[in-house]
Amino acid sequence: MAKNRRNRRGSNRGGQPGEPRPRKKTNDGIFIYTEPLTIGDLATELNLNASEIVKYLFLKGTMVTINTLVDEELSEEIATQFGYEFLIEEIKEEDILEQYDFADKEEQLEPRPPVVTIMGHVDHGKTTLIDTIRDSRVAAGEAGSITQAIGAYQAEVRGKKITFIDTPGHEAFTSMRSRGAQATDIVVLIVAADDGVMPQTIEAIDHAKAAKVPIIVAVNKIDLPGANPQRVKDGLLAQNIVAEEYGGDTIFIEISAKQNIGIDELLDNILLLAEMQELTANPNRLATGVVLEARLDRGEGPKATLLVQNGTLENRDFVVVGGAYGKIRRMTNEYGKALKEAGPSTPVAIIGLSEVPEAGDAFMAFHEEKTARQIAEKIKQSKAEKELLESNVFSLDTLHEQLAEGEIQTINVIIKADNSGSAEAVAASLLKINVDGVNVNIIRSSAGGITESDILLAETTNSIVYGFNVRPNATVRSLAKDRGIDIRTHRVIYALIEEMEKAMKGLLKPEIVEEITGQATVLALWKASKVGTIGGCRVNSGYIERGQKVRLIRDDVVIHEGVIETMQHGKDQARQTRAGHECGITLKGYNDIHVDDVIEGYHFVEVEVT
Ligand code: GDP
Repeated sequence: MAKNRRNRRGSNRGGQPGEPRPRKKTNDGIFIYTEPLTIGDLATELNLNASEIVKYLFLKGTMVTINTLVDEELSEEIATQFGYEFLIEEIKEEDILEQYDFADKEEQLEPRPPVVTIMGHVDHGKTTLIDTIRDSRVAAGEAGSITQAIGAYQAEVRGKKITFIDTPGHEAFTSMRSRGAQATDIVVLIVAADDGVMPQTIEAIDHAKAAKVPIIVAVNKIDLPGANPQRVKDGLLAQNIVAEEYGGDTIFIEISAKQNIGIDELLDNILLLAEMQELTANPNRLATGVVLEARLDRGEGPKATLLVQNGTLENRDFVVVGGAYGKIRRMTNEYGKALKEAGPSTPVAIIGLSEVPEAGDAFMAFHEEKTARQIAEKIKQSKAEKELLESNVFSLDTLHEQLAEGEIQTINVIIKADNSGSAEAVAASLLKINVDGVNVNIIRSSAGGITESDILLAETTNSIVYGFNVRPNATVRSLAKDRGIDIRTHRVIYALIEEMEKAMKGLLKPEIVEEITGQATVLALWKASKVGTIGGCRVNSGYIERGQKVRLIRDDVVIHEGVIETMQHGKDQARQTRAGHECGITLKGYNDIHVDDVIEGYHFVEVEVT
């Protein structure tokens, strides 16, 4: 969450949170910046003649035309020059939380540990480095403790702490960023000295640069005979990562993650860079921060790793996150040790939330339950309104309208299938569809379940996601719903192709659509001679019912489609089981149920055609 914001505008100006925001008004002497505008548009907003702005800039030595786009900085200068107060409007979900956030005074700020993410090409040694640091630089007093995987940990170097986010790879970083959250202060870019700069090295650089996070390069595997650190330096030069010896400002450290060589130097330099960044926070206030990881624990319910970014989180606080809130029931560190409080840059695992939040969600702590509840409700309401707005975005159902209006000539598609052969077959068949003036463009086609990364890719490429014999899990489905991504799942190629062809011809006007009622996970199995295999299930979301159509899903793949034959609560017959409850289930004519299988209930609902 943003802190110490300059002149930033809370969303409460336009009334209650969640109410439609009024279009920016300028005649009250305030200019609210939302995005770059052309000189012409800016002039209109400021009630000026464009020539006045052109002239002003010309006299300052800058030539512009009426169509030149003006960024935030220049907009501020122009608006201020012509007597307007300049404010920035950012439309984000966290706006509501931000209203309750406040800027800290300079004298309240204290240095805080840096938060570091290690990125690099596969096999260049991310995991090894994470493990070496974790195992050898254990925080004081924790020696001999067993670490728990909570998504982050703190290392200690000469009494100073460094927080590492330990999900290797870029996915955590990008999915977090795509949600507007920034947890990382420093990126350690690891490059194997025997392999040099590779595609994911460049990808990592792009991510770090886009997030404006400084990079330290760790040249790894220098113990190998084939190690060539010079080649790494040259390779990175081409990416504008310039080592100090070449006159640049990027620190390069040669290490062997495996043999624990150069690690202290790396950590020292991380601390040095952190010092230069002057990372500070105010430990004496209610905590704010971000969710690093979250999942539903079978025994303990929603479990989340939070990174405290400002303030101090106390183990009896109420935490508001992503429209839910809850009282912390237990707060532990990465060694499973219970904590009373956690200051800035500390990662903690908590239980007690009412729902599983998403990685990247902002959180805020309160001492009072009432405040927490009210704010959570406001966020929920604003989310629902946002969803309504987003329901207008691109989907197969509205394709015919967009085609008719000539808005779309190319349909981007992401295909996920149970194996690569069927993914290829689906792709080939989609490409064969021949409808005048419309093309199918395959953005990604691969084997595997539909993942969050597919949804994020679909969002940036405006794609439809096809699942062939695979289905999204509840987290992915809710992300897709959140981002307005259309997921279509099929088990028969012919049906998939027919649907797409109809959509392309503008014929697709569905009247009956499938709706998932809920999902349950199989926790245990019993064999009963009369009824066959009984799956002891816990319903994770929504509800499931006796007699209902269901799919049996194993590792995201549909294994069986059928009907729930019996449902029991303890010894009693039951008709329905809701989220959070357990039941025993048998499937009609099917016994091959495994532990960890997911049973997904669905039905068909009619939608009005307008
Ligand atoms: P990741 O995919 O980036 O997480 O890479 P890993 O940490 O899994 O490392 C890939 C391989 O490189 C493993 O076999 C490691 O043992 C090996 N490796 C990692 N660091 C070093 C190192 O400093 N020296 C040598 N010789 N091997 C290393």
